[in-house]
Amino acid sequence: MNLRTAAEGGIPADEDKQIPSWHALSTAAVFAQLQTSDEGLDPQEAGRRLECYGPNELPAPPPRHPLLRFLAQFNNTLIYFLLSAAVLAAIVGHVIDASVIVGVVLVNAVVGFIQEGRAEQALNAIRDMIAPHARVLRADRQHDIDARAIVPGDVVMLEAGDMVPADLRIVRARNLLVNEAILTGESLPAGKREEPAPRGAPLGDRHSMLFSGTLLASGQATGIAVATGAETEIGRISALIGEVQTLETPLLRQINSFGRFFTYFALAIAVALMALAMLVHDYPWVDALMIVVALAVGVVPEGLPAVITITLAIGVQRMARRNAVVRRLPAVETLGAVSVICSDKTGTLTKNEMTARRIATADRETLVTGAGYSPDGRIETMEDGVAPAETLLVRSALLCNDAELVEAAERWNVLGDPMEGALVTLAMKAGLHPEAERERFARIDEIPFDAQHRFMATLNRELDGDSRIFVKGAPERVLAMCAGQISGEHGGTDAAVDAEYWRRRIAAAAANGERVLGFATARAPATLERLGFRDVETGLTFLGIVGFIDPPREEAIAAVADCRSAGIAVKMITGDHVDTAVAIARQLAIADDPRAMTGAEVDRISDHDLGAVVEGTSVFARTSPEHKLRIVRALQQNGRVVAMTGDGVNDAPSLKQADVGIAMGRKGTEAAKEAAQMVLVDDNFASIVAAVKEGRTVFDNIRKVISWTLPTNGGESFCVVLAIVFGLALPMTPVQILWINMILTVTLGLVLAFEPAEPNVMQRPPRERDAPLVGPFLAWRILFVSILFTIGVFGIYDYAMRSGLGEPVARTMVVNTLVVMEIFYLFNVRYLHMTSFSPRGVLGTPSVLLALVVVVAGQFAFTYAPFMHALFGSAPVAFFDGLIIVAIGIVLMGILEGEKALMRRFGPLRKANG
Ligand code: ATP
Repeated sequence: MNLRTAAEGGIPADEDKQIPSWHALSTAAVFAQLQTSDEGLDPQEAGRRLECYGPNELPAPPPRHPLLRFLAQFNNTLIYFLLSAAVLAAIVGHVIDASVIVGVVLVNAVVGFIQEGRAEQALNAIRDMIAPHARVLRADRQHDIDARAIVPGDVVMLEAGDMVPADLRIVRARNLLVNEAILTGESLPAGKREEPAPRGAPLGDRHSMLFSGTLLASGQATGIAVATGAETEIGRISALIGEVQTLETPLLRQINSFGRFFTYFALAIAVALMALAMLVHDYPWVDALMIVVALAVGVVPEGLPAVITITLAIGVQRMARRNAVVRRLPAVETLGAVSVICSDKTGTLTKNEMTARRIATADRETLVTGAGYSPDGRIETMEDGVAPAETLLVRSALLCNDAELVEAAERWNVLGDPMEGALVTLAMKAGLHPEAERERFARIDEIPFDAQHRFMATLNRELDGDSRIFVKGAPERVLAMCAGQISGEHGGTDAAVDAEYWRRRIAAAAANGERVLGFATARAPATLERLGFRDVETGLTFLGIVGFIDPPREEAIAAVADCRSAGIAVKMITGDHVDTAVAIARQLAIADDPRAMTGAEVDRISDHDLGAVVEGTSVFARTSPEHKLRIVRALQQNGRVVAMTGDGVNDAPSLKQADVGIAMGRKGTEAAKEAAQMVLVDDNFASIVAAVKEGRTVFDNIRKVISWTLPTNGGESFCVVLAIVFGLALPMTPVQILWINMILTVTLGLVLAFEPAEPNVMQRPPRERDAPLVGPFLAWRILFVSILFTIGVFGIYDYAMRSGLGEPVARTMVVNTLVVMEIFYLFNVRYLHMTSFSPRGVLGTPSVLLALVVVVAGQFAFTYAPFMHALFGSAPVAFFDGLIIVAIGIVLMGILEGEKALMRRFGPLRKANG
């Protein structure tokens, strides 16, 4: 069957655009055209269509050509300067110098090119981890599939917060509002319904269609996929809409602009020095130029942006490995500064594996045995089957319910909401057969659950025509809808609602950390077809409550403890009952004595007062998304850096407001993911804390990279400047400076990006929001080490000259001394906050050791290989002199470790914010 031709040939089309007018067809005609039905496609047919139509995805934007990416590496003021110097040097006959400069430039470009490629690859790989899913009906069964597997003819089910995965013709719509801004530019959500739209209707008026890439703001819908992939409206508008991650973060921008400023500054000084050298010290202009070039290369940290990019990319990769997928790169930086994490409870702090544990009706309370979703277990008082109130309660729990249980490999799993799954299990324990019941009491309509109203209602019609409404929801909400309750030993008699009795029952269950749901029912007129709020808001009969256990995640308990030692406050913001929330907060040890506030209490106080109480409150219960927004703002006004989790469509504003908005990968809606900076693949609180730890590590590593790189530049520049100003002999030639920069850039310069977290990374307070990258401590450190390097350089030069070793050997020893000092300094810098004299500190990491091998091999070649002597003017160094060089490194290490110990005891490292 060739569906595409069939569709294009047989259905009405807009003459001008040749687009099938799906919106103008009746749903029956669409089913017929696409040879599908309201039971969905047969899975095999879906497989065939997938082969015929290809996956439902937009073609990726073409990647930048590698050659262009490579050439972009040269687009840099310093490189222009260096290349011009090389040309000049070549013209005046300094061919070796010219080729060394070109060599350095090339090596730099290759390193930058490879690192940028790796960083891009890392980002691309993790994007697939959060590819959207879709719920489709195939052969009358619901399936959760990768949205890329949707084919024309698939029946797709959507609810508020979902992103429409393909162009769909609506067959069923309930209170549907859709945000179509990406297609139509209209920011107000559009209402949608099943009836066909006029054939000539423009895109924005096709109320019977849902378009790929748009977001359901509210309601529910079922639609038939009529176009997928590039054939969708969004695919037609632009084949290139795929989001391209740019490797730009505030920090990188800061460093780039600092680098640019530095380049110009260095050039200005260099020109001044050149004038000084030529006019005062009578250097020939070519020599003066070469010195200036070397100085410029020495002073400008040209490799820094590339190393910082790779540090960020490695952070993103490590976070992804810990199930935290960063959608926007700046989050990597912000995560390290987070000082409050506001988290949902259900599924994030708790397991979201629910088991119904108790049932309370007006007459008695009963316990339910068994664990998990397996129907093995019993309801203790229902042994004899004489409990009409309980039977009715359990039936309403099964019918006012969208979940299905499936048994696979002797394990029972839930399709749908875990709490609803637990209710299906409960019904099976009570002896009800889910499918038979749902056939006997067919569902006519429903009001879906939403977090704002906190209840769900269904209208069911029995085979004999009797109609009933079933409601389940937050117990106080359901009680408020009831006019009476079922009571009496044999049920059936309506009495007035005993509010005090239920309050006690609810409090007792909640105090155990149980999640409590209330149930109610009412008879409905046989003619009722559509269920509205008016039908359920009053006059129901209360049936009772069910308490569920949902234990805290063990890893969340440990992660909360980590947060507390890391000075990060944890706040639970939940839609659940306040007593349940507090009980769980205690089990998690969120605070010593967790204080709680309800959404209603938040409503009663001003923003100003909220700011005052928000710090001391650890639990916010019965909240709605608007409360989250106010809580984030209040915390931010107190100077906090806030991470906030969210899953619902209405969480988008607070996720955007938070410094790091975190969406749930499993439970979360696409709307929340779109708004978030990070997505948790496993919905787990511990993954947030792991990401914070990685964020801190990334920041540490960036500081390490900077504090290691700058003194090299500082030391080299001091030497050159001192030599020129005082008219001394240069301790290194310009090409030798270039060599040092090159060998270090490709080896030690890279390894700090790969450093694992320091052991105490979660035992110090978060860094201040605006803490500068280079604080007073690092600035001092850079100056101090630069001076030590300069002393080392002049010291060894002086020693070699006095010993009569000659200039080439003296300069070779200087180059080796600088490199050796860099190696020892690297080991010192690997631990900014603690001593490096530990087994772990001395042994290093594989990347440190590899870099070390390369650097040492390079230095041996530099010192002993004849061709290097020709290139760089180096000369062999005697064994004993080599030992002196290593000894200088050891002395340097001793001095720096001593300084670190002093700083730890008396200075800025006490606060660890240096
Ligand atoms: P969190 O915000 O931490 O995830 P939560 O899951 O309890 O907590 P919501 O999903 O907003 O928050 O639920 C709020 C309340 O609504 C629940 O405590 C429960 O009483 C009720 N509720 C939740 N799910 C349903 C449902 N499917 N049907 C009826 N009522 C529900």
